[in-house]
Amino acid sequence: MKNRKAIYLIILAVIVLVVGLALYNHYKQDKVQPISYNEFISAVENGRVDSLVLDDSDILRGKYKDGSSFVTDNPRKDGFKEDLLVHDIRVSETSSQMQFDKLTGLLLTLALFAFVAISLKKKEKQAQGQLAKTALVSPEERVKTSFDSIAGNEEAKASMQEMVDFIKNPEKYTRYGARLPRGVILYGSPGTGKTLMAKAVAGEAGVPFFAVSGADFVQVYVGVGAGRIRDLFKKAREYGKCVIFIDEIDALGKKRDQGPNGSSNDERDQTLNALLAEMSGFNESEGIVVIAATNRLDTLDEALLRPGRFDRHIEIGLPDINSRRKILELHSRNKPLDESVDLDNLAYQTVYFSGAKLESLLNEAAIYAAKRDQGSIDKRDIDKAFYTIIAGAEKKDRSAIAERDRRVTAYHEAGHALVTSLIAPENKVTKVTIIPSTKGAGGFSMNIPPDRMYHRKIDMENAIKIALAGRAAEELVFGPDRVTTGASNDIERATGILVDMVRRFGMSEKSGLLNYDVLYQNGFNQPQSCTSEDLKKTMDDLYRKVTGLIEDNIHLLKAIAENLLLRETLEEKDLKLIMEAS
Ligand code: ADP
Ligand code: ZN
Repeated sequence: MKNRKAIYLIILAVIVLVVGLALYNHYKQDKVQPISYNEFISAVENGRVDSLVLDDSDILRGKYKDGSSFVTDNPRKDGFKEDLLVHDIRVSETSSQMQFDKLTGLLLTLALFAFVAISLKKKEKQAQGQLAKTALVSPEERVKTSFDSIAGNEEAKASMQEMVDFIKNPEKYTRYGARLPRGVILYGSPGTGKTLMAKAVAGEAGVPFFAVSGADFVQVYVGVGAGRIRDLFKKAREYGKCVIFIDEIDALGKKRDQGPNGSSNDERDQTLNALLAEMSGFNESEGIVVIAATNRLDTLDEALLRPGRFDRHIEIGLPDINSRRKILELHSRNKPLDESVDLDNLAYQTVYFSGAKLESLLNEAAIYAAKRDQGSIDKRDIDKAFYTIIAGAEKKDRSAIAERDRRVTAYHEAGHALVTSLIAPENKVTKVTIIPSTKGAGGFSMNIPPDRMYHRKIDMENAIKIALAGRAAEELVFGPDRVTTGASNDIERATGILVDMVRRFGMSEKSGLLNYDVLYQNGFNQPQSCTSEDLKKTMDDLYRKVTGLIEDNIHLLKAIAENLLLRETLEEKDLKLIMEAS
């Protein structure tokens, strides 16, 4: 900031100087005394003339020895210069063209200065305008959104309920010495209701809601973004308890040094640092909570995720069939639906739709209905809206993923879940889903008993089998030519475990009780624990065993997969019921 001011001052000084000089010259010339040629000659004779400017114009300019100036007619005769020189007069020759050039040069320079100064001024003004805009960011003071405005997302709502309590009763927690969370990051696909969730927290806690976007803070001018952050927090503090929502936090919190050719972005770094400083600056009992949203957690700078900053990360996923049904219900409350509209069926059809998309589907249908103006929204309106939205979606959009992919995902995930239940029942499968998350196509999560200090060899082999089970199920059901790339992470994990077993844990006869990394560090040339051929043999063997296991329980695999296709998400208890009933 200071630097820039100095530059403006210098530019201003130069302009004043140039203009002043020009004026002075002009003024001086006004005082120039016109004299006759005769007078001039006598002055020359008397030795009163000091210097003369000789050019091809009609007039001669000269200076007396006393410093005053005169002009007279230009005789333009040959040898004139010599006459003058004989009289000891300094003569400078120039053409009027040259004087003209000088003048235009001066004018051009002036214009250039003025232009630069004006445009800099303008940008500064813009930047200041934006600063002023932040200063004017006013919160929504009475937020009407509540958790009732959100359908589905039950787990996220439960976590956020806690935040509401922190805001309302921070003293309660500080009394027990608990460190309150300052920041929460909500992550998940666009339109899944992250903004809605943040707003609902403010609504439930009854505090003002400040909404900004990360992109607002990334300016061309270093320091502006940081200033805006400070302004925002200053303003927020004036309100006491409040929720600050920063959408698209990745705009300012991307992992550093990821710019082209590894250049870091000063402005963004400063802005990020300002944000972190503000967040560690506010008092725990203040009751200010910062909620940020992003599509992807893994692109964020680690500095943002450290304790005392955004240390809570909550995934807001795409809704499953159940949640879709609830969202559709919620958004059709104010819409006159005809009985031809079957929301259950619509929920079934709208796989991979986000909440926002479901909302706009109903809205689109309402518009079609209004055009017909027959009093209610019927199935045709819904169908029309459905195709409008599908057609308008990008090709790569999840909604367009073929049923085939859905089936593959269902069998793949069912494979993981089935094998886990069969060989490692102590690892509870808590959830299986075919709804894509930020982590990948489908997903299954299990609880590994945490109280185990050592992993047995058999546990590690089981982990490999569980990882391979997805691919094994795909191959069994769809055939070896139709297996997919969906297993790539699984294969990576399985290989990693196997290599560790061999190189670090002494779990292979062939490699023995040696740590191969230690060997290498101590000067043994790239010691080979065993060849990749050996590893492949072990992996093949485990894969065969897993395939056999699934084959023996193929009816269970089918039951789980078909239920997944129908319900998209299965909880632990659902899975148990299916396994028992089949
Ligand atoms: P994001 O911030 O994740 O991009 P938004 O919060 O802006 O998504 O969601 C946009 C709109 O979509 C919301 O205003 C709401 O109408 C609708 N919506 C999204 N998710 C839900 C949900 N779970 N329940 C109800 N409405 C939802
Ligand atoms: Zn898998």
